[in-house]
Amino acid sequence: MARKDLIAGNWKMNANHLEAIQMVQKLGYRLDKRDYDRVEVVVCPPFTALRSVQLKIEDDHLPVQLGAQNVHWEPEGAFTGEISAPMLARLGVKWVVVGHSERRHLFGEDDAMVARKLRAVLASEMTPIVAVGETLDQREQGVTEEVIGTQLNAALRGLDAGTVGKLVVAYEPVWAIGTGQNATPAQAAEVHGYLRGLVSELASKETAQAMRILYGGSVKAENAGTLAAEPEIDGALVGGASLQAAGFITIVKKSAAKSGGAKE
Ligand code: PEP
Repeated sequence: MARKDLIAGNWKMNANHLEAIQMVQKLGYRLDKRDYDRVEVVVCPPFTALRSVQLKIEDDHLPVQLGAQNVHWEPEGAFTGEISAPMLARLGVKWVVVGHSERRHLFGEDDAMVARKLRAVLASEMTPIVAVGETLDQREQGVTEEVIGTQLNAALRGLDAGTVGKLVVAYEPVWAIGTGQNATPAQAAEVHGYLRGLVSELASKETAQAMRILYGGSVKAENAGTLAAEPEIDGALVGGASLQAAGFITIVKKSAAKSGGAKE
C-alpha cells in the first residue's frame, strides 16, 4: 500500500493565537496543489490557538490540518488544567501527538499514560502520532531498540491490527530534539526498519507496510531533502523549524519533491 508522507509542525509553547493565525495563513498561501497532493501538512499549535487556527483553516480553505500536542485520557471530569479528546475532536482536530519526549521527561508521563492517551484519541476518531525515542545515554549503551521497542509495545499492546493501522509513529531520538544534531538518514532508517518489524509482529506485515513512521529531531530546510529521500522515512515531526513559515514550507516541498510523492 502506498504511504503518503506527512509533515507535522509541533509549535510547542510558542505563538499566541494572533501569531498562530498569521503563521497558518502564510503556510496556506505558500503551499501549492503539488505539495498537498503529495504530502499531508499538519500544524499542532498550543491549545489556546486551536480555535483561531481552526477558523482560519476553514474560512480560507487552507490545505493544512489541525493537530494537538497533548491530551488527557479521560473524556471529562475534575482534572484541572487538562484538555480531553472529545474537546479536541469538537474543534476539528484530526491528529494528536502522544508520548512526546518532553511530556515523558519533563512531565513524568510513563508508558501506561501514553497508552491511555492513545486510546482516548482513537475513541474520539482522531489519529494519534505516537512518539518514541531513546536518550543519548541509552544509545551509547546500545539499548536503543530495547527502549523504543518497550515504548511502542506498551502503546500498541492489545490493539487489533485494524486499529494499529490507523496510527502514525514518530521516531524522535531525544538527543536530536532541539539540539541541532539530527539523526543521519541511515541511523533513522535503521530504527524505522526495526519499528516496522515490530509492528509486523504485533499486528501484521500489511499493517506494518502501510504504517507511516515519521522522523523527528532537528529537521530543518537544510537536511529535509536527504531525510525525505530515505524510503523508510515517511515524513517528519518538526519542532523549532516549524516556527518559521519559509523553513517549514521548504521542508514540505522537499518531501513532496521526492520521486512520485507516495511510495510502496
Ligand atoms: C519535536 O519537538 O518534536 C522536535 C522534533 O523538535 P525539533 O525539530 O526542534 O528538534
